[in-house]
Amino acid sequence: MNDLLLIRYGELALKGKNRSDFENRLTENIREKLKPFPGVKVKKTFGRVLVELNGQRMEPVAQALTEVFGVVGVAPCKRVESDIDRIREAALELVREQNPRPRTFKVIAKRARKDFPLRSQEINHLVGSHILKRTEGLQVDVHDPELALRVEVRKEGTYLYGSDLPGPGGLPVGSSGRVMLMLSGGIDSPVAGYLTLKRGAALEAVHFHSYPFTSERARQKVEDLGRILTRYAGKIRLHVVPFTEIQTGIREHCPSSYMITIMRRFMVRISEELAQRNKALALVTGESLGQVASQTLESMKAINDVTRMPILRPLVGMDKQEIMEISRKIGTYETSILPYEDCCTVFQPKSPVTRPGVERSRELEARLDVDRLVSAAVEGTEWVELKPDKEETEFSFFD
Ligand code: ATP
Ligand code: MG
Repeated sequence: MNDLLLIRYGELALKGKNRSDFENRLTENIREKLKPFPGVKVKKTFGRVLVELNGQRMEPVAQALTEVFGVVGVAPCKRVESDIDRIREAALELVREQNPRPRTFKVIAKRARKDFPLRSQEINHLVGSHILKRTEGLQVDVHDPELALRVEVRKEGTYLYGSDLPGPGGLPVGSSGRVMLMLSGGIDSPVAGYLTLKRGAALEAVHFHSYPFTSERARQKVEDLGRILTRYAGKIRLHVVPFTEIQTGIREHCPSSYMITIMRRFMVRISEELAQRNKALALVTGESLGQVASQTLESMKAINDVTRMPILRPLVGMDKQEIMEISRKIGTYETSILPYEDCCTVFQPKSPVTRPGVERSRELEARLDVDRLVSAAVEGTEWVELKPDKEETEFSFFD
């Protein structure tokens, strides 16, 4: 008997080449995610992905799979020889392994191999009665069973599986191209990154720091946040941009009410350049609408003025409460709320303009040597490759 995990994914909308790209990408991402589990094998068969445990404990592996986008469900599964006695034995074992124990069940057999001597109805009956006789407190419910035990008779063997744990859904990371996430130390941008990953985009990240106005520890915090995102993303390259010269320049030459707007325009220019150099097709920010004075439509318009690259704002329709909920679920919240200052807080004006004008921003900026400042910042950018940290994968999605 073989202990497996059977992975369900949202294949409904997929056809032809899209489907095989999706499956290949998903399988590859699953392999990468399961590298810390020696012996585990990942295989594609009959429109499913199967994970052979080969002696590894099921729970941590299943847990890791719930962090792989594209996975809709993960079900403990067994494969046995297509022989009715073996099938009955395995079915009983699978029922006994269910946690919590189901009170009602039903068997749903499917005969994909027509030379198997029993018909589906007969399999249902033989397996069901075997389980009933040997399990206390379990009844058949054909309409709404707690456990729907599926039995699929195939050439290479018979697969048995029960209810599945929910996966995160979404699309496999890397199937939608690459984006550049503007990652601050706050609550919002890591969540924006997570949601973009969920739709299949691979991530790079850019962070602006203003040493010595902001501390080494603040930069470390951003690396930590990025590292948490690698659970869902795989490796992430984090670009760290020196921003002090630009910020002090703006402070000297522009009115403080335009500080944030002009700062953001610089950030976007630099992020765009880094995105282009690294083949990212869009920028992503953690902006929402109306959350703070600087996040208005006028402000977005003034910021978008400096780029032709799409800026994705996946949080635009969310309340702070909803954003915080996701940030707790994905494990970034506790790090985000650590009190290290960010370059925007250090240079926070008393009253930022809530409706900045595009023309006015351009005029004010003309007091600075924009091109030189941007290229100096780009040239001074360092990067680190963030990788999943084994201990961190212990974090539980089901809490
Ligand atoms: P967050 O919680 O992500 O910090 P916020 O609610 O504090 O967001 P703002 O400070 O207005 O909002 O920042 C808006 C967005 O601009 C951030 O979500 C982030 O994408 C980007 N951003 C702000 N500061 C930085 C920074 N230092 N480095 C990179 N991106 C930044
Ligand atoms: Mg912030």
